[in-house]
Amino acid sequence: MKQTIITKNEKETIKLGEDLASKLKPGDLVLLTGELGSGKTTFVKGLAYGLKAPSRIISPTFVVVRTHKTDRNAIKKIYHLDLYRLQSEEDIKAIALEDFLLDEEAVVLIEWPEKSISLIKKPAYKISFKNLEDDRREISIVYD
Ligand code: ADP
Ligand code: MG
Repeated sequence: MKQTIITKNEKETIKLGEDLASKLKPGDLVLLTGELGSGKTTFVKGLAYGLKAPSRIISPTFVVVRTHKTDRNAIKKIYHLDLYRLQSEEDIKAIALEDFLLDEEAVVLIEWPEKSISLIKKPAYKISFKNLEDDRREISIVYD
């Protein structure tokens, strides 16, 4: 499945995230790629809203991972990771990505997954973001 959408503002990107949330099942993985400021965290805000996570979404750039509880029955938690600052292979091993991926009651959302792509072996929703003119973003969603 591949779908490409152009959003005109932040609100439309949030709405797109919310739409994807309705399709997610426990154990699902979402990878978000695209340059800084392209809308990855904004999309996650919509996803979290759609999954009824009451806590505020802020970028986990400095802490690598933030966990959010949800009010949905099947999906109990969201792990939101941002691997941007990870450099060495040790850094990447230290976050124990496998443990998050093994949690069958959670969904895992990863910004900058390129950093650890060799550790990610399960199927995923791959969302990529591209800046266009003005505030528009081209967002493509692939599921393998
Ligand atoms: P990233 O996580 O990819 O670094 P963010 O989501 O944190 O990016 O930031 C995107 C920024 O771009 C926000 O300040 C947001 O308000 C702005 N913005 C403008 N237009 C859009 C759009 N169409 N979609 C998403 N964000 C947009
Ligand atoms: Mg971000």
